[in-house]
Amino acid sequence: MNIILMGLPGAGKGTQADEIVEKYAIPHISTGDMFRAAIKEGTELGLKAKSYMDQGALVPDEVTIGIVRERLSQADCDQGFLLDGFPRTVPQAEALDNILSDLGKAIEYTINIDVQKEELIKRLTGRRICKVCGTSYHLVFNPPQEEGKCDKDGGELFTRADDNPETVTNRLEVNMTQAQPLLDFYEAKGVLTNINGQQDINDVFADIDALLKGNRS
Ligand SMILES: [Zn+2]
Repeated sequence: MNIILMGLPGAGKGTQADEIVEKYAIPHISTGDMFRAAIKEGTELGLKAKSYMDQGALVPDEVTIGIVRERLSQADCDQGFLLDGFPRTVPQAEALDNILSDLGKAIEYTINIDVQKEELIKRLTGRRICKVCGTSYHLVFNPPQEEGKCDKDGGELFTRADDNPETVTNRLEVNMTQAQPLLDFYEAKGVLTNINGQQDINDVFADIDALLKGNRS
């Protein structure tokens, strides 16, 4: 069960990733975790990655791809894996194909949690933070009892700069532009499934589960 999970910020990818790896007992392989593990183990590639990260620079593809190759070669990936945050570009996707081909594997599912831009903007701009205690609220999902005030101490709630509509919209548009060629790549391979992410999170997982069960039965 070799899976890539895709979804824009706010689509609920993290929640679904947790559910999938728990139910199907496969490792959750995110780029961040992979880098941290390689650095902790002090592998040659890990140290290389660290030297870029320490400078605040992007880790080059050859290093990232090498780390992915090492990770996917480990025994716990034999029954499958869930890739999250990789690949990000078509060249990375092609490199991934080569790695998997060397290992006698292939991607079976690319699951894209599909949520419309307007809904993502609503989700991502609703966060409000208490100026006094830092408690986080959400206008839609976790509203305070009294508008604009913290439930705990009555402190004023504010919007972080990152959560401003313009910032959020720009970030989403950049992400959408980056994701589209990848979606096209996996669509052309016949492994892409769009899952409706604008329903209850339990129903989102039920749809993913139904898709993956098809493989098991
Ligand atoms: Zn407060």
